[in-house]
Amino acid sequence: KSRRRWERVVGVLREFEEGCSTPLARLRQVVDAMAVEMHAGLASDGGSKLKMLLTFVDSLPDGDEKGIYYALDLGGTNFRVLRVQLGGKVSGILQRQVESQPIPQELMTSTSEELFHFIAMTLKDFVEREGNDSESPPDKRRELGFTFSFPVRQTSVSSGVLIKWTKGFAIDDTVGRDVTECLEEAMMRRGLNMRVAALVNDTVGTLALGHYHDEDTVAAVVLGTGTNACYVERADAIIKCQGLLTNSGGMGFEKMISGMYLGDIARRVILRVAQESDIFGDITSSRIHEPFVLRTPMMAAMHEDDSPDLREVERVFRETLQITNIPLKARRLVVRVCDMVTRRAARLAAAGIVGILRKIGRDGRAAAGGRRTESSSSARRTVIAIEGRLYVDYSMFQEYLKEAMVEILGEDVAQNVFLRISIDGSGVGAALLATSHSSSI
Ligand code: ADP
Repeated sequence: KSRRRWERVVGVLREFEEGCSTPLARLRQVVDAMAVEMHAGLASDGGSKLKMLLTFVDSLPDGDEKGIYYALDLGGTNFRVLRVQLGGKVSGILQRQVESQPIPQELMTSTSEELFHFIAMTLKDFVEREGNDSESPPDKRRELGFTFSFPVRQTSVSSGVLIKWTKGFAIDDTVGRDVTECLEEAMMRRGLNMRVAALVNDTVGTLALGHYHDEDTVAAVVLGTGTNACYVERADAIIKCQGLLTNSGGMGFEKMISGMYLGDIARRVILRVAQESDIFGDITSSRIHEPFVLRTPMMAAMHEDDSPDLREVERVFRETLQITNIPLKARRLVVRVCDMVTRRAARLAAAGIVGILRKIGRDGRAAAGGRRTESSSSARRTVIAIEGRLYVDYSMFQEYLKEAMVEILGEDVAQNVFLRISIDGSGVGAALLATSHSSSI
């Protein structure tokens, strides 16, 4: 009897494995669809579910930047304040201070007033603690780069309207408002003399820092709580008129690949297996029924557990899911589920990245919808700045992503494509952009 049950488990798993499979042909479809959607999104607002939001950034940092600049980084699990001291071409980044703290859960669903009050106060504390090393006179207005990683319709390089919240934030009264205004108002009320010189998305910050270090950087990808990317487009490719409309792709992609969701996808599969069999024992009073109880970092820890008896799996099940005494066979199955979910995510992410390369003619083929790029394009260096802990901290994810990039691009092209990890790029890059868009120069 127990054998039959185990067979059923294997059946469920196999079915899942098939559903999750990402053969090369499928990845190529994703690449094509991504490039097509990007093209459609550029052609008109609402032309694609893939939002192609303009950044209004027309020049990227190149190393000449000098001075002390601040940045705020809001966009996911953590909130960061940064101070960067730039010394120009020769000295580069002289100093960077970063303070990070988790965003209190209740603020994510509070009011604009409360959220921006919290941000302004945290920044004020940080600025006031800067001490004697400050070169700027106390009454000088400081320039701030504001990294705000939610969909924003920019109205200038330093202002923009929130389209909608994502990643668990839900504060109705911010939608439709200029977030720079919200922040500047909150800062002014708390007596903080600062001006937002650049309002950017995390990917744009990452691109800016990437470009500061390496001028061949043409795109940036963030794989963290959410997923997003940006790239440098030719101005004449941005048509934004009526016409071209597609309704495929785009939607749902982020939810298959981002840190916020992967743990929960794995939980759902494990739950299904648990319901089909008794290999995890009696789960009625366990927490496995709770959405999002299994976080992606825990899933990564189970996946990367290399102890012979899979102690980490045992621990997560006991501490987080409140399921004890699971046999080794079941622990192995859990690792397999984590592997399937992550492998699929990483491979789809790779296809999305290649889609961007396709769009700008750096995938060794012709650009989508455009003329053929020079045939030597495959020999040109292409650097993509990457940030986000899903990629940086989850080595299996990273490995699968790189493997799939090579698979899709082929060795020849792939050897000229470099994924460069950027640390705190989203924030530091915003400070860099604040310098180039500062009102004082
Ligand atoms: P942000 O929250 O701004 O997107 P992060 O780069 O800090 O930026 O990403 C946090 C997300 O990364 C978390 O939501 C989590 O899902 C994921 N994450 C963090 N640590 C790990 C890890 N060790 N393994 C896998 N995913 C992780």
